[in-house]
Amino acid sequence: MRTGRILHRGRVRRVELREGRLYDEAGEAHDPDRAAFLLPFEPRTIFGLALNYRGHAGELGLEEPKEPVLFLKPPASLLPHRAPVERPQGVAYLHYECELAVVIGRAGRRIPERAAMDHVLGYTVANDVTVRDFVGNLFRPPVKAKGWDTFTPLGPYLVSADEVADPHALALRAYVNGELRQEGRTDQMLFSIPEIVAYLSRFLTLEPYDVILTGTPRGLSHVRAGDVMRMEVEAVGVLENPVVEESL
Ligand code: MG
Repeated sequence: MRTGRILHRGRVRRVELREGRLYDEAGEAHDPDRAAFLLPFEPRTIFGLALNYRGHAGELGLEEPKEPVLFLKPPASLLPHRAPVERPQGVAYLHYECELAVVIGRAGRRIPERAAMDHVLGYTVANDVTVRDFVGNLFRPPVKAKGWDTFTPLGPYLVSADEVADPHALALRAYVNGELRQEGRTDQMLFSIPEIVAYLSRFLTLEPYDVILTGTPRGLSHVRAGDVMRMEVEAVGVLENPVVEESL
């Protein structure tokens, strides 16, 4: 099942995507090309993993981590499909990061790897927008680099886990203005979804609608005002957001 939320005549409508149309709870059909998308659900805590793809650390001149490198994305950074990402004034290097986002469905603490997938409700697409200027080192949480308002586009749909046969066998592609800039596969993750769920829940309780951004493959590049970023995760969706100048 692919579910989301749209704004229609001033009201939030929960919708399901079926055969290319969005159906709301009243049975009314909406055109996904014209719908005003909201976040597909209300995320709780948003966890991110840095350097979780083979080859990505090398691109940044860093070593591959020995255990998951974690950070948090603030709620105010969340942004729905098609809404504009604001490029901060005066920064040198703003980039996208195409990521598979895991949505937790069942709470748990000290979840063993073998049971981890039972706690996954589904998946969506994330763009972990980052100002590289503000990334210091592995041990400095990238709050300013990744935490600006509009820096976490998410959606368009929550795709239930049963629709994704193997989340570790998906292609990821990022396009800017239609040009392929980043390409990878989720089998390049250093730490798999069960390993991440087990690692996190060893010290904190995961709750429904917690979101885990599982990292990005190599292939970062600049985006500027006027660009359109298109993040594709096979079997999960296509998340598109334009870039605009920061409004002051
Ligand atoms: Mg990232």
